[in-house]
Amino acid sequence: MSLDLLEADFSEPGRIRAVSTTRGSPGDDDELDLGRSKAPKRLAENRARLFSAIGKTRVQWLRQVHGTRVHHAGRVGDAVEADAVWTDVPGVAIAVTTADCIPVVVAGSACSVVAVIHCGWRGTVDGIIEATLGELPVEASELKAWLGPGICGRCYEVGTDVYERAAIWANAPRTFTATGAEGKWLFDLPAYVAGRLGSAGVPEVYQSNACTFHEDRFFSYRRDGATGRMAMIAWIDLR
Ligand SMILES: [Zn+2]
Repeated sequence: MSLDLLEADFSEPGRIRAVSTTRGSPGDDDELDLGRSKAPKRLAENRARLFSAIGKTRVQWLRQVHGTRVHHAGRVGDAVEADAVWTDVPGVAIAVTTADCIPVVVAGSACSVVAVIHCGWRGTVDGIIEATLGELPVEASELKAWLGPGICGRCYEVGTDVYERAAIWANAPRTFTATGAEGKWLFDLPAYVAGRLGSAGVPEVYQSNACTFHEDRFFSYRRDGATGRMAMIAWIDLR
């Protein structure tokens, strides 16, 4: 069965492959929910649909906690508590799941390494991007990144708490727009994530420009409350 997938749009991706899933068939029993809240049998079925579409039998999943822990996957094991994962082993597939947070794939120019990062506002502010780049065995200047579907800057209203904590990064004010309501801001999380990647030295940052909140094609926690999760999966091709 073919699935509705977004392929990471790097220039010259080489052997690095990365795809983001979508909601599948909105509102249908056929929705491709890859979140852990799903009944185990249904989750196993949805993972099997994904595996068959991407030609994999196993993926390294994470238990994400909006933290800054990074996992190195030398092989695929049980789910690990972390918010980013990287591998330098061809064929090992790694994944993060999201519904509004930004999934980011980072790839080395020589295709020797790939990472995926769960970038919600909290983990990003606290340094999950920098923590990941710090673990990779290549310089940031040799990396490129692609931002998968997440909530866009017109849809994401936040309070002063987020505005103040995000200010740890000097360019943060450019990513907030006052709404006119007291203490309310529109936060451009994709721009914030891209900016933090750039400040950390990543020269090429590409965007899917897909919004989970205003496009029905995706799950959105903000829009729907209890909802499913999409996955971003990446690996180094064996060829
Ligand atoms: Zn939007």
